[in-house]
Amino acid sequence: MRSLDEFATAKLGELERSSLRRALVDTTRVTAIWLLRNGRRLLSFCCNDYLNLTHHPAVKEAAIEALRVHGVGAGASRFVTGNHPLFSELEARLARLKETEAACVFGSGYLANLGIIPALIGPDDLVLIDELAHACLWAGARLARAAVVPFRHADVEHVELLLAQLRRRHRHALIATDGVFSMDGDIAPLHGLAALAQRHDAWLMSDDAHGLGVVGGGRGSNFLGGTKADVPLQMGTLSKALGSYGGYVCASAAVVDLIRNRARTVIYSTGLPPAIVAAAIAALDVIEREPAYAALPLAKAKAFARGAGLPEPVSPIVPVLLGEAEAALKASRLLEDHGFLVVAIRPPTVPAGTARLRLTFTVIEAQ
Ligand SMILES: *Cc1c(COP(=O)(O)O)cnc(C)c1O
Repeated sequence: MRSLDEFATAKLGELERSSLRRALVDTTRVTAIWLLRNGRRLLSFCCNDYLNLTHHPAVKEAAIEALRVHGVGAGASRFVTGNHPLFSELEARLARLKETEAACVFGSGYLANLGIIPALIGPDDLVLIDELAHACLWAGARLARAAVVPFRHADVEHVELLLAQLRRRHRHALIATDGVFSMDGDIAPLHGLAALAQRHDAWLMSDDAHGLGVVGGGRGSNFLGGTKADVPLQMGTLSKALGSYGGYVCASAAVVDLIRNRARTVIYSTGLPPAIVAAAIAALDVIEREPAYAALPLAKAKAFARGAGLPEPVSPIVPVLLGEAEAALKASRLLEDHGFLVVAIRPPTVPAGTARLRLTFTVIEAQ
């Protein structure tokens, strides 16, 4: 056996023994909640397609029309010939929804964070990051080669302490957090963080992958709580509630222009397919036109939590903590035997000892 294969086999064995091995299972999604797996119809609580926009007639029609007219791929990086006019339209629409001057679209949410943070932050700088922030915020911060210091989850006082201790040693400072936390479903204290950022001249960045289309009347987590939180870097994805694919950042015109000029994941990667961009625009139409629609997944999550005796959720993501990875896997298998697909979330996606079932709720009713 080659040493490469020996290495892979040994590593897989380690993962298997600690219940951390992952396997892909062929699954056909029929709607946001029904899917087919191993010949069985399962009711899914694991899709991020909160508004069922992947199957919305107007969204599909927009994609089909763009595909017919413009073909499949973008053909090149946006800086070469891949900057289809649909990109400008999507960016203007995102900026309007988020009330910023400008926006920049990326190949995915993950690629957005890998591009944005190193475009703004360097080795002399400080990144304070929520300990439960999404893997791609961490990856972007590490890629920037800054001093990366985690703060206790959603703990504004801890951020204040760290800023008081560390801020003056660094040229620039970034505070990075999920808006809606992807594995816990809670919401960042954006107003408190914004006030601190202002006081200490730090730049606040929120990753609202699970906020857009879902909370704050569909406009995201910084629109919650009466007054809009001042978040100069609002990043998110087109791949979840929007039902399409891609990532974005909304910010001032100067910041977006700089990100476009420096983000390697924009410059050195092919633009999104035009049909995907057209679908995202059509999805924004639905969200802007029907803000009440965006409130439905959370209402369902609340009803479920009430029935199950769980704390009231603030987003359509409801975690049920079980502790060890094995317990979460067992619970997930048991539910699947009964026709419910509820994913077991294990380390390293969540901290050791906090393996859980994670349920997400969508607009459509099970029938
Ligand atoms: C899903 C997710 C991403 C990644 O977005 P993609 O478009 O799927 O690459 C980034 N951040 C958070 C918080 C997420 O939940």
